[in-house]
Amino acid sequence: QPVVGVLALQGGVAEHLAALRRTGVTACPVRRPEELAEVDALVLPGGESTTMTRLLDTFELFEPLRARLREGMPAYGSCAGMVLLADSVLDDRPDVRDSPGVRTLGALDVVVRRNAFGRQVDSFEADLAFEGIEGPALRAVFIRAPRVEKTGADVTVLASVPSSGEPADGEAEATGGGTIVAVRQGPVLATAFHPELVNGDDRVHRLFVRMIHENSGHTGPVRPDTTED
Ligand code: GLN
Repeated sequence: QPVVGVLALQGGVAEHLAALRRTGVTACPVRRPEELAEVDALVLPGGESTTMTRLLDTFELFEPLRARLREGMPAYGSCAGMVLLADSVLDDRPDVRDSPGVRTLGALDVVVRRNAFGRQVDSFEADLAFEGIEGPALRAVFIRAPRVEKTGADVTVLASVPSSGEPADGEAEATGGGTIVAVRQGPVLATAFHPELVNGDDRVHRLFVRMIHENSGHTGPVRPDTTED
């Protein structure tokens, strides 16, 4: 079984660790470069992407993490984690092009806008259809969530919510209707919402673990094939 780390600088670390362990993998918190070096994959939890940028620097994790991602380490970012994994980030204020204070890891060919759902809907929940996840709709909890405003050619959109009607600030609508809230590019997964907060549903974490197993055939050490579920 792979060893999956959870970046433990801020946010719902315990919830991600618990969800991962329920899928059967070994999961451990990652705070130091030595710990990062030992994991096969990493979850980047929610929190505040500006704070996490600072903490990644303080803990001397930014460069080692970027290097692991460039080598193809599977990663899953939830909410602020999605912001950090993106290529580029727009601020919530439409007049600000870049988001000062957020340094991105560039592992996903997407443009993400922080706090994209506005103040009135700081938090909301939605039931989503999610590509690659079977069964009933996925309950998704959004907390000051980002959205994906642009996707590169290698990015697959996995889930969207109906658009609120506000224009995407001149960005090309990659969705063909709807606001993108979950994407995948190769071994990298990102959701604007927090699946770790929904009790009794580990399907997003299970999907990520399947991705790790698929990926191990390509770049990592050879592991026996496992059929999930
Ligand atoms: N608004 C936060 C950010 O942009 C993300 C919030 C969250 O992770 N729940 O970093």
